[in-house]
Amino acid sequence: MVRRVAVLGAGVSGLAATKSCLEEGLEPTCFERSEGIGGLWRYTDKAEEGRASIYRTVFTNSCKEMMCYPDFPFPDDHPNYMHNTRLQQYICKYAEHFDLLRHIQFKTLVTKVKKRPDFSVTGQWEVVTQRDGKEETMVFDAVMICSGHHVYPSLPLADFPEIQKFKGSYFHSREYKEPEKFRGKKVLVIGLGNSGCDIAVELSNVASQVYLSSRSGSWVMSRVWDNGYPWDMLVITRFRTWLGNILPRALSDWLYVRGMNRFFKHENFGLMPLDRTSRKEPVFNDDLPSRIACGVVVIKPNVKEFRETSVLFQDGTVQDGVDVVIFATGYSYSYPFMEDDSIIKSRDNQVTLYKGILPPQLEKPTMAVIGLVQSLGPIIPTADLQCRWAIKVFQAPLFLSSLPRRYGNSTTLQTDYITYMDELASAIGVKPNVLKLLLTDPRLALEVLFGPCTPYQYRLRGPGKWSGARKAILTQWDRTLQ
Ligand code: FAD
Repeated sequence: MVRRVAVLGAGVSGLAATKSCLEEGLEPTCFERSEGIGGLWRYTDKAEEGRASIYRTVFTNSCKEMMCYPDFPFPDDHPNYMHNTRLQQYICKYAEHFDLLRHIQFKTLVTKVKKRPDFSVTGQWEVVTQRDGKEETMVFDAVMICSGHHVYPSLPLADFPEIQKFKGSYFHSREYKEPEKFRGKKVLVIGLGNSGCDIAVELSNVASQVYLSSRSGSWVMSRVWDNGYPWDMLVITRFRTWLGNILPRALSDWLYVRGMNRFFKHENFGLMPLDRTSRKEPVFNDDLPSRIACGVVVIKPNVKEFRETSVLFQDGTVQDGVDVVIFATGYSYSYPFMEDDSIIKSRDNQVTLYKGILPPQLEKPTMAVIGLVQSLGPIIPTADLQCRWAIKVFQAPLFLSSLPRRYGNSTTLQTDYITYMDELASAIGVKPNVLKLLLTDPRLALEVLFGPCTPYQYRLRGPGKWSGARKAILTQWDRTLQ
């Protein structure tokens, strides 16, 4: 019987895990190495070891109705997309509202997680923590890993010939905080992800020139979609997902590319993704096209070679006088506290998890990795549902054998949001029954089917049902307009 659960990390995933445990009558202990909750969203002027670090101007890419906890809507007066400080305030209110703080041990670093000798029978884990130099070992029936995935920079310097000859400065985007010290400088940003684009756009206001280098292009989308509505409330709907699934692939690819080019034609801006039909996570940036059009951000192909003060690109062009290079090259997964990290990571450093949650090799399914899957959808509701699903597995492991694919298979970490959420939700009996709703509550059914797939949909029925879910769905557009 699982009773005591260790939750590693008190970011948005760790809070969802703690609350889900409490909801199901389990005893969570959440360990947080820093002094506060919020994880990535708790901005500090200096990057802290082992915790994600963001720049001062990070705004959310998911709107408030799509990215809230499913039983805790944002206050009406919040804007649709939020500055990190606003999101952090919301996270604190959530923790207060559900009385989560008393289950969190702050300034407590988890240094080791290992199987107990009798793991194959009990499924128990030994968790070693460090606080104020003191070490403590505790035993838990299950472990939920919520330690974040934007912590350990991926800095592939070996792919950048002669970087050691470059006399300017270079660093990973994790170290970037604000633009002022780059005033008047020539800056090269490498990487066309969300951070790279944000940083390039922000620097273009102060730098003498910004170059943005990309190996394979990216779809760049605006937060503001048709008629000014939030992109995700129009794009992430059950109806669109259903259409995408039944249309022939060629037609659905054509519609996808057409949709992605709606904001501007990527080809004309040198941003066209090499693999245009892969559903790779797009970049959200409302200003990049105009910055390119104004010439203050110049798009460049991959770097071929660095020289003392200049950079040679794959297309043969050379940029002289480059002062700073920022590597916005993303992050790698790391679980330094795992005694045997092959439990989560495979040999080629990839992560393979059943349903994007369970390490597939375990004799007992008592470990869950939360918040790692990537989709077009927001992380908070994803983490919430993952936690509810994982806890069901902890409590009734036999339930795994009732699932379509047996425990042991893996699922890719890149996934379609609604398909993934529905898969988890139907396994634990919380997927909305649209047909039944059409007969009993047609107004709600139409909003569930054609409206945005907001998180409240997964609290309409079943375990964890929230009595405010119906009202929240029927009033979601009012809050958006407000
Ligand atoms: P984190 O927020 O990273 O929290 C992990 C916590 O674990 C930290 O507090 C850390 O201190 C603690 N910890 C780590 N190791 C240990 C240990 N050994 N012992 C104890 N404690 C430990 N997602 C969206 O849905 N919408 C967005 O708009 C969005 N914008 C983003 C913008 C940027 C710039 C970035 C980088 C990411 C964005 N994301 C967004 C994704 C983001 O990862 C999630 O929103 C979310 O912050 C992940 O939360 P988490 O709790 O899983 O991890």
